[in-house]
This record gives sequence, C-alpha cells and structure tokens, in this order.
Amino acid sequence: MDIIINSLYSNRDIFLRELISNASDALDKIRFLALSDSSALGTGDAAALEIRVRVDKAARTLSLRDRGVGMTRGELIANLGTIAKSGTRAFIDKLSTTKGDSSNLIGQFGVGFYSAYLVADRVTVRTKHNDDPVQYVWESGADQTFTIREETGGAALERGTELTLHLKEDAGEYLETAKLKELIQKYSQFINFPIYLEVAEEIDVPVEVESPAEEEADKSPAADKEGEDAGAAAKDKEADEMKVEDGDEAKPSDAAKEAPKTKKETVYKWELVNQHKPIWTRDVSDVKDEEYDSFFNTIAKLPGKPLAKTHFKAEGDVDFRSILYIPDKPPVDLYNNADSEKDAIKMYVRRVLVTDKFEFGLLPRYLGFLIGIVDSDDLPINVSREMLQKSKTLSVIKRKLIRKALDMIRRLSETNDKAKAKASDGEVDLDEAAKESADVDADAEGKAAKPSPSAEEEEEDEADKKPHPYLAFWKAYGKSIKLGVIEDTSNKERLAKLLRFQTSKTNASDETDWASLDDYIGRMKEDQEYIYYSSGESVDAIKRSPFLERLLEKDYEVLYLYEPIDEHMVLSLPDYQGSKLMSAEKDNFKFGDKDQKDAKERLDGVKAQFRPLTKFLKTSLGDKVSKVRLSTRLSSTPCVLSTEQWGYSARMEIIMKAQAF
Ligand code: ADP
Ligand code: MG
Repeated sequence: MDIIINSLYSNRDIFLRELISNASDALDKIRFLALSDSSALGTGDAAALEIRVRVDKAARTLSLRDRGVGMTRGELIANLGTIAKSGTRAFIDKLSTTKGDSSNLIGQFGVGFYSAYLVADRVTVRTKHNDDPVQYVWESGADQTFTIREETGGAALERGTELTLHLKEDAGEYLETAKLKELIQKYSQFINFPIYLEVAEEIDVPVEVESPAEEEADKSPAADKEGEDAGAAAKDKEADEMKVEDGDEAKPSDAAKEAPKTKKETVYKWELVNQHKPIWTRDVSDVKDEEYDSFFNTIAKLPGKPLAKTHFKAEGDVDFRSILYIPDKPPVDLYNNADSEKDAIKMYVRRVLVTDKFEFGLLPRYLGFLIGIVDSDDLPINVSREMLQKSKTLSVIKRKLIRKALDMIRRLSETNDKAKAKASDGEVDLDEAAKESADVDADAEGKAAKPSPSAEEEEEDEADKKPHPYLAFWKAYGKSIKLGVIEDTSNKERLAKLLRFQTSKTNASDETDWASLDDYIGRMKEDQEYIYYSSGESVDAIKRSPFLERLLEKDYEVLYLYEPIDEHMVLSLPDYQGSKLMSAEKDNFKFGDKDQKDAKERLDGVKAQFRPLTKFLKTSLGDKVSKVRLSTRLSSTPCVLSTEQWGYSARMEIIMKAQAF
C-alpha cells in the first residue's frame, strides 16, 4: 500500500478515475457477453448500463455502483486479492528493472483498485455475478487481509458491483459533490457509459400557512400591550413604509408579505455528469463539423470556431488517435507559459484522462498554441507522470504529433492553391484537405460578416479582398513558426516553408500580399545566388536603408525583417533550397552574379587611388571600426557602416541591448 501511495500516484484525486474505469470495464464485459447471450443483461434496471456515484455524509462514505459483470467468489479472491499474492517484492523488482523502457509495465499489475486506499481506510465491495448464485461482500482495510462473506440482509444487486469507500479522516473533500463532479468531468468525461452523481438540491417547499384571521389575532394583543406609547412609533413606522412604497423597492417587500410561506428542504436527484462524447474514436466521415466545433469549445473552453483542425489515427510503432485544433486567437500568455500549469494537449488512455499537467510537454514550446487530445491504448493508465515521460512510446507520439500539426498548418497555407495533402509514412490520414478548407472558409466569412463602421461602399471591397486564410494564422502565430525554425532543427525545412515575409516586391500597403521563401525562389533572377534580407525596426526604416540601394537598382528582391525574433531566426536558417541567405548589412555581402567580376576589376583599378582616404579614415576612427574599405555595394550613398560577417548586425545589437543580454 505504501508503494502505491507514495510512488505510483502523485495525486490522490485519481482514485475516482481508477474506480470509474473499473466500473466501465465491467460494463463493457457484460455488454460483450450479452452479444452471444441476450439474457445475460437481464431486464429493467439491471439492463441499464450505467455508473452511479453517491455520498453519505453522515456515514462518511463514498459509493460507486455499476451494473457490470460483477465478480464470482473466485474472481473476488483472484482479482481484488492479488496484490498480497503477487507480493510487494516482485512488484518492486519489476518496477526497478523495467523502469523507463517498457511503457506497459504498470497495467499488468492491476493496481488501479488499490488507489481507493489513497482516500479510504476501509473498502467494502458488494458484488453479484450471473454465474454465481450468491451475492458476496468483500472487505478490507489498508492491511494485508481481506474477508469475504455471503450477503445477508443487504439489498440484492441482481448483477454488478457496489464499492463503498469509508473515507479517511483527511479525505473529507470527497464527500463534496462539487469536488466529485469536477473530478468525473476532468478525468472521466469521455467514458462510454453514463455516470450519474447524486446531488443534493435545496428547494423551497410551502409550509402550512396560518389563516389571516389568526395572524390578526396574534398581532393585536401585542399592539394592545404596547398601548398608547407605542402609537407614535407605530405611526412613524407607517410613514416610513409609505415612503418606501413610493420608491421602486416597495414591490418586493410587498410581495414577500403576500407570498406563501416556504421552507428549505433538501431533495436528492441523479445528475448525468459526463455528457460529452469522445468524437476522436470515430472516423472523420462520421463526425459532423458542428461536433468538431463543439468539441473544440468543450476542451478549449473557448467560444467560436477554430482556425483549423486535424483528426487522425496513427498506426505503427504506437497506435493512437488525436484531434488538434488551431484556436482562432492565441492565448494571451502564449510566449510566457513557462510556468503554466496546464498542457493544452490532454493525454488520454482508452478515453480516460491521464494528466493535463504541463510537464508532460507533448508538443514543443513553439506549438504551444495548439489545443487537442491524444488517446492511446498503448500507454499504461495508472502510471506516474515521471515514468510516462521517459517512455519511448511518448517520444514516438510526440514526433508524430509535430508532423501532423505541421501538415495541418501546411494545408492551411495551401488552401488557396487547393493543394493535395500527401499521405505520409504509413499513417492512415483521416483528414480531407477539402474539409479543412471548408472550415477555414466558413471562418473567414464569419469575420468578413462583422459589421464594419463605414457602411455599404466597403462591403464590395470586403468581398473581393477576402483574405488568404493562412494570413489570419500567420498574423496570430507567425512568431511561433519562427521560433520553430530556431528550436526544431529536425523540422526546419518544413517550418521554413511556412514563413511569410514582406519584401521589396510585395505591396506593404496590401494586407494580403506576403511572400513565402518559395515565392522568392520562384522570382529569383537567372544568375542570382543569394536570398537577400535586410533588418530594421520597420518596413519604412528598412526601405530607407542605403544598404538596399544597389540591390534594388539591380532588381533583386529583399526580405524585410523587422521583428526582433527575425534576426535569431535567420541565424538558424543559413540557406533555403540550396540558396544561401545573405544579409544586406554585413561585411561579407556579395552580389554573387556576373556583374561581380566587372565590379571587382573596377574596384582593383581605383583601390590605389583611394588608399589615402581609407588610411585616413582608419587612423581617425581607430578602434571604432575594424577596417575601412572600398566596396561596390552602394550607388549614391558615399559610405555605410556595416557589420562583420560573424558579428551581430546593428539591428541585433539594439535588440540585445533592449533584452539586456
Ligand atoms: P486493472 O483494472 O488494471 O485490471 P484493478 O486493480 O483496477 O486492475 O482491478 C483489478 C481487477 O478487479 C479488474 O481487472 C477486475 O477483474 C476486477 N474489478 C475491479 N473493479 C471491478 C468492478 N467494478 N466490477 C467487476 N470487476 C472489477
Ligand atoms: Mg483498473
């Protein structure tokens, strides 16, 4: 018990998830048996495949009732008594030898049931199986013994199991239905069977009203007693009431006087707690768009529609299903979530939540804006986070999730091109590119439909200026993609494809005119060797830069980098599709074309002539510059200050200073 309590579960809340999962398993088993023997299910109440949870505050008990298979005497002994038999020793041995590399190690121990002892010091199990004529009561404290007796006097269960947890002194919180409801909804929301919780409700019930005559009779003697003296006071009071009656507040007090008298009474009713369906277990063609949207609303706790989604089933090393969404707006703390409690990707095993704690890190930081679920049968449900984190299974899941997320973003970027999504490495893709784009289109329409301040004239414009759906994404999450280029070397190429830039050839005043690196490559001049970029604090500032004049004169396209992260990003992206990225500001700048040769000859011709000037400048400026030399990069500007190839650009230095590195 100590091992379970101290090493398996870091959070005792999970006992309810374990017990509900067992009840669900028992229900699944009887449903399965009923396939071949329809009488197995019984009739009436017995046939209701559901789970009921209730508390008895006075007795300090929590009970769970299912109408599953139940257990025979033999099964009670074998299943609920195993832990003592299998032995603590073997348990520890296996735990230490297989730790970290076998993900299935805990499940086989059947320890879920024992998590009840995290919160209870005694557990009673009443159970009835179709194959056993007798109903049994199993009972055990948190020690090494248990008792089994035949039920005498207790209500007949017909079939199924009722667990009663006698809660520990410090586990009183599990007597609160609000707490139980929270736990069921958190961990067991998607269990296939209905889970009912008995909740107490305070209602007003009418009490026997005394007759008006009696009321008068009651009052008058009191008034009489107070006699003449009270008269003045009574008058004052009357006047007050008159005043009040003039005001708005008069009504309620009036009504209260006339309303029938009521008293509070507690009634109990069963509340269905798990109303949401695990849509990820179905095929894409079986799930309606509205269902995807409302599932998004449920798990993201956000209104509206997501920008895009992907629903897929991965097969191979690890089988799992997943749904990922891109919310239409990034969370406020997107780049600041280092100490955020929750992971936006929830991890389920057979529809039961394992954990949503952030340390899980199913997705890298740069994809932290995604929201979704992963459900895998291959992971042990009752395992500590620490162990799961090390499992190989988890790293396979991570890698595939990233690929699928990037595929979804790529499809979004290609919606206008109507590009076909390629199926990749043996995964069965449940997505359809068409469905995706339909989603996004609907969303874009939703935005355009928002009433604009200046009326009719704009409407036409809105219609034909319908923004590329990817731009909404890019504006919200572009920084994340750039972060990805820096941090995820194995997906750098894929991420680089998703980048969008303003360039010397895009129209800065047109919100929809952005260039991808592929666009850039497509527009490169025949003998162009490099992808040029220039950094500054804004597009306007970059445009004024003397570093650009010759480049633009020669009609080369230049990427404008003006976000602080851009500089870090280009350092991580030395080339794209075989073309090197070249800073317009750095010392190693080259045009890299055939003009270069002519220019070099010209330069050599005048070098000697300018030597007195360059010498003079170097001696006057001293340490402030590392060298002074002639170059062919300018046209009308006489002189520029450039940075050494491996040094920080001027822009970068400003950024670094601002960040106080
Ligand atoms: P596991 O679920 O991993 O098998 P548990 O410790 O949670 O391990 O449960 C042990 C076994 O006890 C189950 O496999 C099942 O046979 C039996 N059991 C537990 N709860 C129930 C129940 N509500 N109805 C029927 N059998 C149950
Ligand atoms: Mg279990």
